[in-house]
Amino acid sequence: MELKVLFQKAYDMMDEPIIDGNCGELCNFHCCRSHSEKERMGMYLIPHEFKMMQNFHVDYEVHTKHLYDMPKGVKRLYYIFCPDDSGCLRQKRPIQCRTYPFEPHYEEDVLTLVVEKEQIHQCPLLNKTEIWRKEFIEGVLRGWQLLCTVDEIKAFVKTYSDIRVEKENVLMKLNLETMQVENVE
Ligand code: SF4
Ligand code: SF4
Repeated sequence: MELKVLFQKAYDMMDEPIIDGNCGELCNFHCCRSHSEKERMGMYLIPHEFKMMQNFHVDYEVHTKHLYDMPKGVKRLYYIFCPDDSGCLRQKRPIQCRTYPFEPHYEEDVLTLVVEKEQIHQCPLLNKTEIWRKEFIEGVLRGWQLLCTVDEIKAFVKTYSDIRVEKENVLMKLNLETMQVENVE
């Protein structure tokens, strides 16, 4: 499948809000905006995603493997900054924005979704998983299942999964049989 078609399918699958209503109003959009004048907060696009962002007018930096730790096989990643003073271009928001507070995660070659213990954001929904919409959970999982048919994206996800396991940085995991989000001991 052509990459642009694949990405668009994934965006469509992942176009579901986490809860009914606008969760950003609970936290003043904490996961999207800079919260310090000293440090500007941005977010990484996943491999191949920059091609989908050509009409998304935001500042960005190119991070290369010479200066940043990168997963094996990834030479560069794009780091974008959304303007603090304007709304989200919601229809074009990147994969990571559609996924948070989940992260895609591989263990024994099975893809699931997890929530990390280490959080930059104080997402008020982390202790309210009972109100997460099932359409959000299923959409994010299906989107990543499709994205991970691309070797470079799968390798990218696996690299961060291995680091997460090594650091015991998993707080919650999606049970693929029940489709419930469960705490990890
Ligand atoms: S931090 Fe949580 S509640 Fe706030 S905008 Fe992000 S996902 Fe929504
Ligand atoms: S695209 Fe939207 S959801 Fe993503 S960081 Fe920018 S403002 Fe936030």
